[in-house]
Amino acid sequence: MKQNNLQIKGYQIDPIIFELGFENSSPNECKGLCCRSGVWVSLKEKEQILENKDLFKKFMDETQTLDDSIWFENNITADIDFPDGLCDSTNVYNDKCVFLNKEYKCILQVAALESGFDKFKFKPYFCITFPVVISQNTITYDDFLLNIAPCCTAKKTKNPNFIEQCEIELLHILGKDGYIKLKELAEGNKK
Ligand code: SF4
Repeated sequence: MKQNNLQIKGYQIDPIIFELGFENSSPNECKGLCCRSGVWVSLKEKEQILENKDLFKKFMDETQTLDDSIWFENNITADIDFPDGLCDSTNVYNDKCVFLNKEYKCILQVAALESGFDKFKFKPYFCITFPVVISQNTITYDDFLLNIAPCCTAKKTKNPNFIEQCEIELLHILGKDGYIKLKELAEGNKK
């Protein structure tokens, strides 16, 4: 990752995101492949999910487990990119995140929508932002699924569209004003 002086709202911006583009797909066509291995969660997110466990159990199918004691790895790890510097991880069950149903939908989101909440109310932060990630306080592209999932494959291109195609993800991190600033920086980067 390049060092740079690009900053928005206290985050460094990795200039690589100004050079990347999606070709045949985009995160808007997500098929849930990123959910196969689970996700890191803050302790607050974990607590909120467990507080509402009975709601989520109503939306789980036979490929998922109702045993909430194994929904998380329960292995607390230090990570500066989480608000309190600590995180845990969702567990994998039947070769997918415990919260992914057989139709490859996240039941944390399904339950929120069906209950009249905002769709992201219970969804972990880094599930919402993927393939955008905050690493060491730097906003960058997570190439975990490069060449595996077209919707998460962004490559260097002469026609970069990463900022536009990841609008929802970047808006979640930066807010509207921060996203506008990022687009301005991207324009400046072209000159
Ligand atoms: S919590 Fe939901 S969105 Fe996140 S990895 Fe699990 S199934 Fe996917």
